[in-house]
Formats: sequence, structure tokens, C-alpha cells
Amino acid sequence: MAYDKSTISKIDLSFKNELLNMPGGEILKNCFQCGLCTGSCIVSRNTDTFRPRQILRMVQLGIKDILKADDLWRCVTCYTCVERCPQGVKLTDVFTALKNMATQEGYLPKAMKELIKAIYEFGRIYEMTDVQEFEREELELPDIPEASPLTFRKIAEKTGLTKLID
Ligand code: SF4
Ligand code: SF4
Repeated sequence: MAYDKSTISKIDLSFKNELLNMPGGEILKNCFQCGLCTGSCIVSRNTDTFRPRQILRMVQLGIKDILKADDLWRCVTCYTCVERCPQGVKLTDVFTALKNMATQEGYLPKAMKELIKAIYEFGRIYEMTDVQEFEREELELPDIPEASPLTFRKIAEKTGLTKLID
């Protein structure tokens, strides 16, 4: 995620206010950019671009382009940053809100679409092949229980998720 000289023109106050007005959102103002979240984050340590502190700053400034960033989806919701933030910022809630907004705006990353499609089709995030089942048998691993996608399909259809993955 990079800033450029046109960043200032991308400030969208309604985006910023929407986040500040969500339940618990006002606490975003308390972030004083200490960077402890980024320093504690296992994903940050293993990627060049995912920086929770920077995402928070972009939100504080109202830079809506953050919704287009695939980085948003890299948080694994481990809660380490939430536990350590000296200002009580619930970063995981912020990321969830941002991901919901990104989805509504049509910025669902391709990889997420593929995952959703797989759950819709197979009831799990990937299809179990005969080869995998054979390998499990060889290793004397127990059978994997049947997965039913029916409940997920109902939710996807009711919430409009199916339209996003078409
Ligand atoms: S740890 Fe908290 S206060 Fe510090 S940068 Fe992260 S969100 Fe802001
Ligand atoms: S909850 Fe997300 S942002 Fe926070 S430390 Fe874990 S992976 Fe990083």
C-alpha cells in the first residue's frame, strides 16, 4: 500500500465519518500511531505491505482507496494487536467493517471469490479429490465427514453474496 502525491485528493470525509459512526468506531480517533499493532502483527512480519498502523492512518484521514487494497484481507484475526493496543482500538472490528464496505463497493478480491465459490459448491474451501482420499487412507487418517453446502447457499442467496461471485 503506497501513498502518492495525489493521496490528498482522495480524501473522502463521508467514508471517514461512516467508520467513525459505526458502533465503537469513535475509538479510531484515539489511535496515536505508535505502531505497536504493526510491530506485533505476524502478518506484517511476513509481508512487505500489510501494515495495520498505516491502514488505521488511512482510515483516520478518510482515504477511501484503502477499500481497493488486497492487503485488507490479509489480517488473520489473531487479536494480538487488539490485546496490545495501548489506546484500546479494536483493529479487527475496523478490518471487518472495511472488508464489508469493500465487498459492497465491488472490491472483493479474486481469491476470496474463489473461496466463496468453493464453499458454495462443495461445502468446504476446496474439493476433496479421490487422490486426496486415497492418500488419507494410506496414512490411516480418518474419513473426512460429508460437507453440505445447503445452509451456506441459503445464506449466500439471501444476502446477495451469489451476485458478487457470479
Ligand atoms: S497500537 Fe493502537 S494506537 Fe498504536 S498505532 Fe496501532 S491502533 Fe494506533
Ligand atoms: S488481528 Fe490482524 S492485524 Fe492484528 S495482529 Fe492479528 S493479523 Fe495482525
